[in-house]
Amino acid sequence: MRINVDAVIQKSDLIEYVRMAGGNPHRSGAGWASHCPLHGGDNKTAFSINAGDDGRLLWHCFSNDCGGGDAITFVQKWQGLSFREACEWILGERITDYEYLRESAAERLAKAEEDERKARERKQARLHELQVAERHLYYMRQRKSAQWATDSWLAAGLDEGLQDFFYLGACQDFTYWYDGVEYHTPTLTIPYFNERRELVYIQHRLQNSKGGGKYRPDKSGIPLPPFLAFPEMGYDGGLIIIVEGAKKAMVTWARVNDTDAQAIGVPSLTQYPHVADALRERGERVIVIPDPRDKESRRDSRKPYELAQELGAKVLRLPVKVDDFLIETKLTSNEFINLLRQARKI
Ligand SMILES: [Zn+2]
Repeated sequence: MRINVDAVIQKSDLIEYVRMAGGNPHRSGAGWASHCPLHGGDNKTAFSINAGDDGRLLWHCFSNDCGGGDAITFVQKWQGLSFREACEWILGERITDYEYLRESAAERLAKAEEDERKARERKQARLHELQVAERHLYYMRQRKSAQWATDSWLAAGLDEGLQDFFYLGACQDFTYWYDGVEYHTPTLTIPYFNERRELVYIQHRLQNSKGGGKYRPDKSGIPLPPFLAFPEMGYDGGLIIIVEGAKKAMVTWARVNDTDAQAIGVPSLTQYPHVADALRERGERVIVIPDPRDKESRRDSRKPYELAQELGAKVLRLPVKVDDFLIETKLTSNEFINLLRQARKI
């Protein structure tokens, strides 16, 4: 039998399969979210289902190595079938032993829990090393002794008082690898703190990047958390501004200049759903400032707007990125706050 893939997709019901596999898909933004039925775990937004450009439903797991795909790839991974077998199952030409599936699901879950525990331990150990070393203070001293570093932060819109407030630093000789080759470059460093003022991450911005992006972690294996401009305030405040990345959060928060305000830098577009969980019930006080993007850019570019919709928050659209905007327009604090009042629900 030749398989007509379009007919298989037509007949498939991805959401039902996710449910059958033990997931619990619920509406989230324009699609659905669930814990991941493939690797287990209890993160209720680790797994998403969204309609692709051609209308076909696509799944994606944000954690572990489950990957993503359409209904056929989901059935393959869930039941351990070949492509052809998965198509046959969807078309009703293949019978499934659910007892066996339940057992193998239990095994996968147990293994996933063990893997998660080990990963958590490794992460904790690295975090502990980072915290006891007080490296952010070491980098801060290097910044104070290097005029180029202080000047770079100044050009980014942060005066020396703010550079001290955020413990911004520099590293004269940072080593990184790209494509198996070792490179050296000076970097600018940004420490991230949690609500208890514990150091949870140090980010290096490479001055000379040979590839693989401009940013690197001080220690690998620690996930990049959202950046809190005013750590003690956490995911709260009389005004909560959501921007993309740490630098914009610092520049925006500094310009608002209000100790009742918070600015949060979301590290990547895929992290927006996680921030939503932390901000629930506070949507009325949230203003999202997305980076401007072309319409044709990746589907994830809707994430900031979806966050605003989900929280009932407002959106401020700017013609350029907010940090560039504030430097170019030289708005005073009051002028910027007036502009923030122009933010609207979408
Ligand atoms: Zn998964």
